[in-house]
Amino acid sequence: MSFDLLFENARVFDGTGAEAIPASVGIRGDRIAAVGDLSDAEAARRIDCHGRALAPGFIDMHSHADWVLPQPGHGRILAPLVEQGITTLVSGNCGCTPAPLVPSNERIVPALGRLLHDEALDYAWSGMGEYLSLLDSRGLALNNAQLVGHGTLRSAIKGNDSSEASEAEIAAMADLARAALDEGAIGLSTGLGYAPGIFANLDELLGVTRPLRERDAIYTSHARSYVSIETGNPDLFPTNITALDETAAVHRAHDIPVQHSHLIFVGESTWPSTDRTLEHLDALVDDSVDIAFDAFPYVGGNTTLIVFLPPWALNDARMHAGNPESRDKLVSILESVQSVVGMDWQDTQILWVPDRTLSHYEGLSVAEIARERGRSGTETYLDLIAELGPETRIMNWNYSGRDDEETSLRKVLAHSRCCVETDTILTGNGFDNPASYGTFPRVLGRYVRELGLMKLPEAIRRMTGFSAERMGLRDRGRIAPGLAADIVVFDPGTIGDRTTRRSPSESPTGIDFVAINGQIVLEKGRFDIDSRAGRTLRRH
Ligand SMILES: [Zn+2]
Repeated sequence: MSFDLLFENARVFDGTGAEAIPASVGIRGDRIAAVGDLSDAEAARRIDCHGRALAPGFIDMHSHADWVLPQPGHGRILAPLVEQGITTLVSGNCGCTPAPLVPSNERIVPALGRLLHDEALDYAWSGMGEYLSLLDSRGLALNNAQLVGHGTLRSAIKGNDSSEASEAEIAAMADLARAALDEGAIGLSTGLGYAPGIFANLDELLGVTRPLRERDAIYTSHARSYVSIETGNPDLFPTNITALDETAAVHRAHDIPVQHSHLIFVGESTWPSTDRTLEHLDALVDDSVDIAFDAFPYVGGNTTLIVFLPPWALNDARMHAGNPESRDKLVSILESVQSVVGMDWQDTQILWVPDRTLSHYEGLSVAEIARERGRSGTETYLDLIAELGPETRIMNWNYSGRDDEETSLRKVLAHSRCCVETDTILTGNGFDNPASYGTFPRVLGRYVRELGLMKLPEAIRRMTGFSAERMGLRDRGRIAPGLAADIVVFDPGTIGDRTTRRSPSESPTGIDFVAINGQIVLEKGRFDIDSRAGRTLRRH
């Protein structure tokens, strides 16, 4: 037997949740050729993995990098993802995708995606097929499986019109969704908390997802609200429960897998609803609803500065934040929301501002800026919207916990239906979301090794085999002969993240090798940013 590449004497985790076995893994071309005792085999290159774990490359279940992948320099920008062991991105989440582009949305889509990248895109594509072919022809630093976004489809049919969609309009959106699936999209995402997804009612959701049924393709959903307050009234459900029901309704209508995106509990008053929400999810699973969810291992996530504004102020946020009449209204709304939800301006940290002369705000919280200016937090927040604009990115640090209290987050991460995701907006500029650097090593180091939240094989399953199965990626996510050679080799005793809120851009420890489609792209922690070993993963 001979191989191009042979990883010898590893503890092999196959991605199914099974305990590790001592074995070697032989690679030929882009495939795993053999797993077992291969001591007699010949190999062009042998790598001794004694004392190391070997697992399928990690799958980032929820990425927004489809806005960065068309850029020639994306290998440098996305390097922190590969450095944490990620070999495949599931992109196109939260309803917002760069394709399909048609004349009626060719101005709207770039505006919707503006938050998700910094460098200009050339938009040299129209349909999903053209977009994916362009990624392949330009070369990809890692694999990309692409969802098509409902927000992009809605804007293609209705432009900026926020009215209810007619039957004919819903049918037209479904036709575009079907075409995107035919051209290689693996499923469809919604962003029901953002414009224009927020304007869709259930009829529209069930109509636009109908083509998924013909292909048994996945539906993923950013829910209408994650501000999930437990009122004490058993008949009033926290919004995370009603949101799960809305996601489940799509499964019930079409019998397709559904994925609830980034399950978080925003603000301190919502954390107590965690148990009831997870019990509700269990009940749905017991009732044969094919549902799972994803989460990141941090008590904060990245979003836009205007996320706290009411819907009427979202369009023209800058004007509303500056105009005295709407401003008074906004101050009182924001102050009552903060106290009801249990948020503090200390929790809102500026990550990136479009105007580079104001970059000294990056890394600071709204509360810190308020202290500097001698203004209230709420006044300062509105001043910042008026000054910096709605594209400003923030971290919000009260998701399912705070630094010293993460009971809710741990329950979410420990759940057997939780896939690991970064949900990061990584553009190469500004202050970073630590999830860009530390997500997967943090789960394996802090939550598996140090806190014992789950066993190592189970954590790996929810980073690889389970994620691939959910997304219909049949030849990824496991270590077995015939499957794609996406591989990560790490030290289970030292793997971990070094990120903190103040110092988020720290590379992880303990990752020795990453191979993508049989090609080693990372050795001893260093990623070859010019490698182009990735490819688009189309549904087949
Ligand atoms: Zn989202």
